[in-house]
Amino acid sequence: MAKHALLSPSSAARWTACPPSARLCEHIEEGPSLFAEEGTEAHSLCEYKVKLALGLEAEDPRPTLGFYNEQMEDCAEEYTAFVLDALQQEKDARRDPLVLLEQKVDISSYVPQCSGTADCIIVSDAHLHVIDFKYGQGVPVSAERNTQMMLYALGAIGMFAPLYEVQKVSMTVFQPRLANVGTFTMGSDELLEWAGSYVKPRAELAFQGEGEFCSGPHCRFCKVRATCRKRAEANLDLDRYEFAKPVLLGDDEVAAILTQADELAAWVGDIKSYALSVLARGGTIEGFKLVEGRSIRRYTDEASAADAVRDAGFDPYEHKVLGITAMTELLGRTRFNEILGSHVCKPKGKPTLVPQGDKRPAITINDFNDMEEK
Ligand code: SF4
Repeated sequence: MAKHALLSPSSAARWTACPPSARLCEHIEEGPSLFAEEGTEAHSLCEYKVKLALGLEAEDPRPTLGFYNEQMEDCAEEYTAFVLDALQQEKDARRDPLVLLEQKVDISSYVPQCSGTADCIIVSDAHLHVIDFKYGQGVPVSAERNTQMMLYALGAIGMFAPLYEVQKVSMTVFQPRLANVGTFTMGSDELLEWAGSYVKPRAELAFQGEGEFCSGPHCRFCKVRATCRKRAEANLDLDRYEFAKPVLLGDDEVAAILTQADELAAWVGDIKSYALSVLARGGTIEGFKLVEGRSIRRYTDEASAADAVRDAGFDPYEHKVLGITAMTELLGRTRFNEILGSHVCKPKGKPTLVPQGDKRPAITINDFNDMEEK
């Protein structure tokens, strides 16, 4: 297995917030994750499709992809369309853009031994756009001051310094399985200031294994997330609400709990998976045991099951109208709009509770009632 760098861009949100976590996790191995393999395959498909769209030579990876399916195809198509749009915007502004795919960037002038691979970089006179494809569908990743993307942008600025005088930096997270596409833009001066005054000193602390432990949302991706005392103390601090008077919680206490609720739920999940792994290895967790979970029936071989049903005189397949992405692919965007423009609508999403800082506008009581009536 390839050795991971101590301070990688993908873990930078963690080690900048909690510098000693880097050395603490350094020698802890985590098994290969199926999600990571699936993500790697989706990335290779994206790269292939963008290259093809740009008229570059590329080898079709699909015959070798174990996780390939219609959803992966659709996501790669959407990503390709996004990259082409972003490129077209630069061309329209006559900024003479250059596109780089799966580009290695060197960040070692700020972070010891640090480099990373950006999925797509579009650089043009004065503007740098870094686009990161995320295939995960667990947690939506925000582009807003996203440490990983800011490090990629930093590496790219250094790389292009002799050719382009970048003034504005845009960073996009493209996470199609959660319909999460966000772009954050900042000045290159501000980015360089952040790198020098925040990242560099935090990276030095992390490299030396020094600094203060600090828990927060970044703990979810830490290798000691289940057993870290700092994180446990922060979450168990919620205990105090058990003793709050009067008997019922006030709305201010509910607000305080909500602020920590996602992190608390994630921590409980991590504790459960840790306990499960201890028991699975033959260890003991007092008061708990492993049992067989519920399972659902499935076909041993889908193709032969379909053959058997057909031989018996039935149609084994359900017939459905193609989804919007697949239909757009079948018809092309223009024909799609001509034929189906009046048949497409975008229903309102269900009311969702989010922190005040979320960018979406708050909905009103009337909006809420409208949705409930539907
Ligand atoms: S779990 Fe959180 S607080 Fe503990 S070492 Fe990891 S990042 Fe730091």
